[in-house]
Parts: sequence; C-alpha cells; structure tokens
Amino acid sequence: MMNSLVEKLRKNRDLSDEEFREIIDSGRYDDDLRTAADEVRRENYGDVVFLRGLIEFTNYCKNDCLYCGLRASNRTADRYRLSREEILDCCEEGYALGYRTFVLQGGEDPYYNDDRICEIVAAIRKRFPDCAITLSIGEKARESYQRYFDAGANRYLLRHETADDAHYARLHPDTMSAQNRKRCLWDLKAIGYQVGAGFMVGSPYQTTDTLIADLRFLQQLQPDMIGIGPFLRHHATPFRDQPNGSAELTLRLLSILRLMFPYVLLPATTALGTILPDGRERGLQAGANVVMPNLSPVAARKKYEIYENKICTGEESAQCRGCLEMRVKAAGYRIVTDRGDVRRA
Ligand code: SAM
Repeated sequence: MMNSLVEKLRKNRDLSDEEFREIIDSGRYDDDLRTAADEVRRENYGDVVFLRGLIEFTNYCKNDCLYCGLRASNRTADRYRLSREEILDCCEEGYALGYRTFVLQGGEDPYYNDDRICEIVAAIRKRFPDCAITLSIGEKARESYQRYFDAGANRYLLRHETADDAHYARLHPDTMSAQNRKRCLWDLKAIGYQVGAGFMVGSPYQTTDTLIADLRFLQQLQPDMIGIGPFLRHHATPFRDQPNGSAELTLRLLSILRLMFPYVLLPATTALGTILPDGRERGLQAGANVVMPNLSPVAARKKYEIYENKICTGEESAQCRGCLEMRVKAAGYRIVTDRGDVRRA
C-alpha cells in the first residue's frame, strides 16, 4: 500500500506547507515517491528521454554569484569564448549525432551583446530549421529577450536559484536580486518562450522553508522545464568550505516535482552525475526525462568549471552520446531524436 501522503500529492499535485515539510525532511517516503513519480512520468512520456545538446560558449561572467566558479572575482579561471563558427561546428556535430535541441549557455559576458547573440541565433536557425534553440545567458532587459526570440530562439533556461528574497541575497552580491530574476522569467514567458526555472539543492543557508518557497514559486510560474541539481563547492569561491548538497534530497525533490508537474521537462543534471556515479540514471528513475550532454569542444569543457570535478569534461561529443545511450538504456529508458517539446495535458 502506497503511503497516503504520496497518494495525496499525486492526486492533488499539491500539499500543505506542513505536509511538504514532512515529506521533504523525512526519508520515509522515498521508495513510494520514486515509484509514484516513475508511474506518472510513464503516463505522460512513456520511457522516452529527450536530449539537449549543451554548448558552453563563454566562461566570462560579469556577475559575482558567491557559489559559482565562473564568478568575475575568480582571477584563476582560464577564460575562453567560442566564435560563431565554432558554435555552428558544435551544432553540426550534434545534429549528426541526433540532437534536435541546442542549448547555448554561458556566463553573462558583455562581449556577446544583443547584436552578436542575434547573429548567432539567426545563423543556427537558418542552418538547422528543424531544431529548437535554447538560450541560457542570464538576466537581460525584456527588449533583449524579445530580439533573441525574433531572431529564432524558442526556449530560455534561467534558474531562479531560490525564491526567497533573503536567501537569494546571501548567495549573490547586492547588485542582484530575486525580484529581477523572477521578472526575467515572467518576461520570457510573456514573450512566448518555453521557459526553464530551477534551483540548487543544498545551497548554503537553504532551509526546508526556502525549498517550499521554491515549490510555491514554481506553482505560480508553471515553467516548461525545471532544472535542479546539488550545490557543489568550488575552491575559488567564498563558499569553498561549505558542504555539498545531497544527492538523496535532490532525488527526493525530483520525484516531488514530477508529482506536482506531471507534464514538466525535468533534467537529470550533470551536477547529480558528479556527486553520485550513477546519479543521472537514478535521476531518471526518480522522475527525470531529459539529459543534457555536452557538445562543447573538449578544450573548453574543463574551463567551464562552475563547480569542481565536473564529469564528462574529457570526452568527445560522440563518446558522450554513446555513453549516455548505454546509461539511459540500462536505467530502463530510451533516448529519442526529437525536439522534445513539453507535453502539457
Ligand atoms: N549565466 C547563466 C545564468 O545565470 O543562468 C547560465 C550559466 S550558470 C553557470 C548556470 C547554473 O549553474 C546556475 O543557474 C546555477 O544554478 C548553476 N551553478 C552555478 N554554480 C554552481 C555550483 N557551485 N554548484 C551547482 N550548481 C551551480
């Protein structure tokens, strides 16, 4: 018999704060949560896993997020930028390997002003008309988001990081705010992007209450994708001595999110695979339905060091593709070549 709290979450797609607290803080529900989440993912997506080809095109960043290895104050980072041609080469290679979504991610790098981003997006759109183009390049003005959209971008990933203002302020410099981050997400949605939000699990000063605030914010936003992964420390940040986030709690939250948002695209993240050798497989079994292998040139991969010991930094794209295929199959699922649009009921 499945636990009644898990059944209630599955049926109502919601719980009271008190009930969420119980389920988040206790490992007692984990088996039932995982079973229910897998059933719900299969009802909505079968055994299908979507691929997103990640192109990390710059590790320059003007921001100074306290947790991130790319932060401007990290003078030891070896910075790089990919040219438009190099980005197109990554897409070319990805296309041949079956990728139909390209995610362009980077630090907030002023070199890539709106004109340059639009040129890159338009060139990808022209050469790969059947592919989805996702941007993940941080906080911008609404007008800029509109220009990228008009140039051909369809999706945007911007984790809200934490929905709690005070918590947000402890993770970021004064120049940044939870309010602006959320404003960006609402603007992106209003423009017509498919939007991805999300948060780190176990970021410093996170509490069960801030996690519940994250769930409540996601209920308002109703994003198409939710990216979560454990916080992992980086030696050249102020959080170098903070404990890493927990794989167990990340898996628990993946299942909770699947039950709350049956339709949502939920990646089994690289951070989860970094903290646990079979983390991505376990993520899929806990309700995730997306993996985002790296399409960046090998020389760039190690330099895009947002946290330490990141996996898949030594492999060519083709090796990543093959390895993932095997892992996904062994976990009981199947990679498909498809844009992988959200399936809202
Ligand atoms: N600059 C863009 C932005 O702000 O959305 C995209 C790049 S940013 C490096 C991508 C994500 O990496 C962030 O949203 C954050 O959640 C995650 N991240 C950064 N540092 C991390 C760390 N130390 N551990 C785990 N995740 C981290």
